[in-house]
Amino acid sequence: MNAIAKTAELTEAERDRILAKSALFNPPSLVTADGRRDLVGLSRAELAEEIAAIGEKPFRVKQLWHWIYHQGVTDFSRMSSIAKPLQAKLAEAFVIGRPEVATVQTSSDETRKWLFRFRDRQEAETVYIPDREIDRGALCISSQVGCTLSCTFCHTGTQKLVRNLGAPEIVGQFMAARDAYGEWPSPHGETPRLLSTIVLMGMGEPLYNYENVAKAMTIVMDNEGIGLSRRRITLSTSGVVPMMDRCGEELGVNLAVSLHAVRDDLRDEIVPLNRKYPIAELMAACRRYPGASNARRITFEYVMLKGVNDSEADAHELVRLIRGLPAKVNLIPFNPWPGSSYEPSSGNALHRFARIVMEAGFSSPIRTPRGQDILAACGQLKTESERARKATGRSNLDA
Ligand code: SAH
Ligand code: SF4
Repeated sequence: MNAIAKTAELTEAERDRILAKSALFNPPSLVTADGRRDLVGLSRAELAEEIAAIGEKPFRVKQLWHWIYHQGVTDFSRMSSIAKPLQAKLAEAFVIGRPEVATVQTSSDETRKWLFRFRDRQEAETVYIPDREIDRGALCISSQVGCTLSCTFCHTGTQKLVRNLGAPEIVGQFMAARDAYGEWPSPHGETPRLLSTIVLMGMGEPLYNYENVAKAMTIVMDNEGIGLSRRRITLSTSGVVPMMDRCGEELGVNLAVSLHAVRDDLRDEIVPLNRKYPIAELMAACRRYPGASNARRITFEYVMLKGVNDSEADAHELVRLIRGLPAKVNLIPFNPWPGSSYEPSSGNALHRFARIVMEAGFSSPIRTPRGQDILAACGQLKTESERARKATGRSNLDA
């Protein structure tokens, strides 16, 4: 076997291992307390099975899909193209669910943060970040409750992984946010809408929950429903290299990579996943990522930590690493959280760093922290349930 074939086989084995491990953290089933099934988050094929199981014709799938994902209806009796007796039959077997809103807070800058509670009472946070100038906004969605990785600057990283979110819970965050802003029916074409962009940058590592994330994004991208283009979705990863290829091939969404350090010794420390997938491998995976072009640049996220990763030498090394890639660098001022041990870089350091990257030909915006007053900014998310459990000394698994 030649070296390339051997590497491919190893990657495949590694991917299988990641998927098997991830499956151990899958959520409980979709059946409600009264035995009805939640239709939200089923693939079209699964929906077809449910419809067949109650003895109905396949064309109902298209109808239901439209009502659920285009119109945003949660009540079968509002499905006017379906006759009353069938509406009643559907309501006996199914529900169209939403996560429960445990709390919702709106920041002085209009950023809004929900704590959503799921059927087993686990919770995750979702943040809406409006962009008033263009009358659009991004919804920052969580993929897991907690995270297995423990990046030292990240609040979520201090919460152990409780479980993956299922496709219904991932899609449900988006649907519940659209409910809140009265954004149904889903827009067709170019009508500007508030909830028209998704960033998978909330709690958790989306590529350690790939199957559920992929299923959810496939639903969100379906043209007969929500119909978001893959260009309006960005998945952020701390660098799960074997899953990056698959994500590119199957979903083709925009990629953001949480780089944060340009030398392995430092990245090993602050993004511990680097010990498994070091910088050279990560950069090679970025170069392979399909569709990386000027129109669809890879975003490198770089949280600026005072005296840790913010020197001019770091900026030059960053430029060397990304040279030749269609890339953009998002410089994120460190957002402190209770108990964090870093300080944000000074304004001077931020601008000096940004200038070096910019002069090398890369866009390098400094991200304005949003929703800091409600702990909704990057890396500040952590569920209240966990905070409360910590206070009472109970473990993650007691819930
Ligand atoms: N697990 C994924 C996605 C969620 S984190 C990932 O790490 O990419 C979303 C972004 O917020 C990441 O770039 C993360 O590194 C950054 N981040 C985490 N903690 C932060 C903090 N305290 N201040 C600023 N950015 C932070
Ligand atoms: Fe997990 Fe991302 Fe936070 Fe790292 S930065 S601990 S990968 S959520």
